[in-house]
Amino acid sequence: MEKEPSSWEDALRQFDKAAKLIDLDSNIYEILTKPKRIIQVSIPVRMDDCSIKVFEGYRVQFNDLLGPTKGGIRFHPQVSLDEVKALAFWMTWKNTVAGLPYGGAKGGVVVDPKKLSEIELENLSRGFIGAFHDFIGPEKDIPAPDVYTNPEIMAWMMDEFSRYEGHTVFGVVTGKPTEIGGSLGRLEATGRGGLFVLEEAMKRLKMRKAVVAIQGFGNVGESFASLLDRRFKIVALSDSKGGIYNKRGLELRKVKVHKEKTGSVLNFPGAKNITNRELLELKCDVLVPAALEKQITPKNANHVQARIVLELANGPVTTEAREILFKRKILSIPDILANAGGVTVSYFEWVQNKIAYAWKKEEVEEKLKEKMVTAFSDIYDVLEKYKVDMGTAAYIYSIKKMIKVLELRGIYKAGVCKPRM
Ligand code: NAD
Repeated sequence: MEKEPSSWEDALRQFDKAAKLIDLDSNIYEILTKPKRIIQVSIPVRMDDCSIKVFEGYRVQFNDLLGPTKGGIRFHPQVSLDEVKALAFWMTWKNTVAGLPYGGAKGGVVVDPKKLSEIELENLSRGFIGAFHDFIGPEKDIPAPDVYTNPEIMAWMMDEFSRYEGHTVFGVVTGKPTEIGGSLGRLEATGRGGLFVLEEAMKRLKMRKAVVAIQGFGNVGESFASLLDRRFKIVALSDSKGGIYNKRGLELRKVKVHKEKTGSVLNFPGAKNITNRELLELKCDVLVPAALEKQITPKNANHVQARIVLELANGPVTTEAREILFKRKILSIPDILANAGGVTVSYFEWVQNKIAYAWKKEEVEEKLKEKMVTAFSDIYDVLEKYKVDMGTAAYIYSIKKMIKVLELRGIYKAGVCKPRM
């Protein structure tokens, strides 16, 4: 049996497919598929029992052709360089899709943050900045939250960077609490951006109502669920421990209270416990993977019953699985479009930090809507022109934009160099 591709191999596979369709110049291919910088560090952390534990950390700055690099930091036991590289690559294309003046980056630490006390977590977050201080900054590389990192962690990181600099530097990270330079609307931005593109997709497919199943009940999954109105019925939700299902619908407010009390959505009164795998194969209109990568693969893509897959996580649907869904006429809205709302409002936060002014929430949401709707419509045009799945269309769209940037910056102009004999 063929080995499942790693996240990085799969990211390249998706890129290759689009590159082939537009006959991408091989020199440009080389430039766009090699990371600019990979930094690996060891972060010593003082634990509560006074021992020192050393954690492995990565930051990959993939491409800065459009501006400073930008992307979140993940704290998770399964973090690897392969995964961080793929996530940094995806950030590059996501920022291009969203029309942001950023390149792509990502960071990660191999750690199970649930096993750390709050002080240990703070020490690790500050240690991360100590290790990466020389490589980040508002004009260089700007981290943000990702899996198991949050506004509190961003606050510690901003504070630590400011200590190094000798003055407060809000713009070094985004996703901060609003009291210290965070933007209104950032917390739910990924979910809200996802909802904007989902609404556009539903218009195209002439759907007015939808039964929804959501995998992952963290920042992204929970905030997306909270934004759904009467047009939507949530029948399934899950977290790392498993999922719950009730075909008559789940009352979100009560599920939140239950999760707060018990630490999981499992055993919610009136609902049936299901596995994360079962959730992906449920009968519904909209399936929302909002947890981790490689959830829908060739193994289960044929069992997906939704009409739309909204990829709110990064890399939840593999390239091959996207092809299977496309053949089955299921619209999979790719991660680099579907979850671009988070980085878009992070960009707004960075702009507000630069001008030292805070926008109203409505202003942030209006600007976000404009960016998401435009990106959806531009990519849908490519999908119709090339008759490909939306993931491939998003890559064609963003690679073409990047070729233009390369040409304008000059030094990489394809085809103008004559070999000297
Ligand atoms: P989070 O840490 O807040 O939540 C992650 C959720 O996934 C939790 O509910 C956790 O229980 C669940 N989970 C973990 N392992 C799981 C598993 N094996 N099966 C099912 N569920 C599991 O993280 P988040 O910020 O919500 O990020 C979720 C996804 O969205 C990630 O892929 C992330 O890269 C992506 N994303 C996040 C943002 C953002 O702004 N936070 C922006 C764009 C994309």
